Amino acid sequence: LANRAFHPEDSVIDVSGVKVGGGYLAMIAGPCSVESVDQVMEIAKAVKASGANLLRGGAFKPRTSPYSFQGLGLKGLDILCEVRDAVGLPIVTELMSPDYLDIFNEKVDLIQIGARNMQNFDLLKQLGQVDRPILLKRGLNATYEEWIMSAEYIMASGNENVILCERGIRTFETYTRNTLDLQSIPVLRRLTHLPIIVDPSHAGGKWWLVDSMAKASVAAGADGLMIEVHNNPECALCDGAQSLKPRKYDDLLRDVSQIAAVTGKT
Ligand code: PEP
Ligand code: MN
Repeated sequence: LANRAFHPEDSVIDVSGVKVGGGYLAMIAGPCSVESVDQVMEIAKAVKASGANLLRGGAFKPRTSPYSFQGLGLKGLDILCEVRDAVGLPIVTELMSPDYLDIFNEKVDLIQIGARNMQNFDLLKQLGQVDRPILLKRGLNATYEEWIMSAEYIMASGNENVILCERGIRTFETYTRNTLDLQSIPVLRRLTHLPIIVDPSHAGGKWWLVDSMAKASVAAGADGLMIEVHNNPECALCDGAQSLKPRKYDDLLRDVSQIAAVTGKT
């Protein structure tokens, strides 16, 4: 179902009225984690003014250490909904457990499946039952074939609205958090009709890498970007080191829109 050979045109996925894929760019921005209403509200207003069309924020966080901030859970989800209604940006947030499938289906515009759950096949099968589109991030060490097969699991279960997200892979290099695989964009474009976006924040792990890698991704034909933005990165509860301040995000989107004009996307 994901195979380009049987579906020559690019798929355009509708996320609560925001089109993604084909000629349409998804500009997803927001904090790594939902921390408070004020925090998400301030960031959402800023990124929307810069041109973002979708708001991200983690309520359930997959943290390496059990002692790290785990997210606000359902309270975080309610904060995202409150900000969506006030600011008018559809929300993207990660689902980790099938226990919350119904509540995510009711409240979340684009359901994110994180890198660590890319091959959680039972979870993927259950996503066939939801009406919402899915953002499927690439696993830490997933090949293109494995990643597409994970999309296929969701599609074969009944939900064909899948967007792929390259977020860097594990390599021998440890200076950066992961290694951004820019080649995944033209390769996936050839293998599948599904939209492919890039998350340069988790790829590099450093805020100063985001600008160049975001521009390179759009130049390589990405259908969008997912970027972490925080109003006070020094005090962020998660991923402050890779988060842009709203001002830097604004500068970046100015350049990105010019590059996108060249690749024929808006
Ligand atoms: C995230 O986007 O919040 C996240 C945890 O990313 P990844 O699953 O790619 O590590
Ligand atoms: Mn993060």
